[in-house]
Amino acid sequence: MPLDTNCPKCGAPHAKKLSVVYSEGISTVQISSQSLSATNTIGKIEISTSGNSTGIQQTEHSRSAAPPPPILSLIDIQKMNVAQLRTAIFFIGFCCSLALPFLIKFFFKADPGFFSTIFIGLLITVAVGALYKPPGPGEAEQIAHQTRVEERQKEIDNWNITFACTQCGTRFIPRESEQRQVRH
Ligand SMILES: [Zn+2]
Repeated sequence: MPLDTNCPKCGAPHAKKLSVVYSEGISTVQISSQSLSATNTIGKIEISTSGNSTGIQQTEHSRSAAPPPPILSLIDIQKMNVAQLRTAIFFIGFCCSLALPFLIKFFFKADPGFFSTIFIGLLITVAVGALYKPPGPGEAEQIAHQTRVEERQKEIDNWNITFACTQCGTRFIPRESEQRQVRH
């Protein structure tokens, strides 16, 4: 049985699938660059550049019809967190290493050698950064994440079957029967 794609609000025919609206509004653009020349008091400098660069252009209309973004896996979230923490450890360790010779001099009235102290500080920093291993996600976190992934998948499935009226913009899921659902 064919789908009834007439708009449930204004009755206009030929509603478009959201995925179609989305992909139709994305285009590849080519930008060609011109050559440029300039003169100064010493002589003429000519900078010549030519070529093409490509980019992606997207209409506002297409952007508004974008699919819900996928949720990162727990492993990817963990990796991002570890990367951020390592960066923080290295930054703090680097600063502490630079300050270490001065601190030792100030508190212990000893001069352990400027560069060797910094070197040891940096070694400790790298060791801490490399050995740092955060605990994996707990069971509750895993369940919560799974729920978010399933909810997002439902949203993506819905997006895949949602149409947009080309006249009034109403979004709806076409039904084979008379009963239709209007999305707000
Ligand atoms: Zn309509």
